[in-house]
Amino acid sequence: MAKSYKDAVEPKAGGGFIVERLQCPMCGWIRPVKYGVSQRTGEIREVRFDKMNLEIAPLWRLERLVPRGRASKDARIELIDSKTLAQLPDDIKYQIKIQCQRILQILQR
Ligand SMILES: [Zn+2]
Repeated sequence: MAKSYKDAVEPKAGGGFIVERLQCPMCGWIRPVKYGVSQRTGEIREVRFDKMNLEIAPLWRLERLVPRGRASKDARIELIDSKTLAQLPDDIKYQIKIQCQRILQILQR
């Protein structure tokens, strides 16, 4: 069982490591394909683009960080307000629509 995301990194002949990374076609964020380890299952977590329930996921969030002393593990984030995909502002929904159309144009060739 993996103990760390580093277990997912392949040692490379000649030194160094090879890390597989994926760039999000929506926002451009680049991150390792395998990241972290699930506390619950011990499995290495992998980037997926199909796991969010877009009917209910709080894509926009207004949050408050509630500190409990310096570097305390009891610090927590409180969700003050949120919006689902359908509730996002029109300009953001427009950006998402345009980018989804570009993605579909390429994938459906
Ligand atoms: Zn993204």
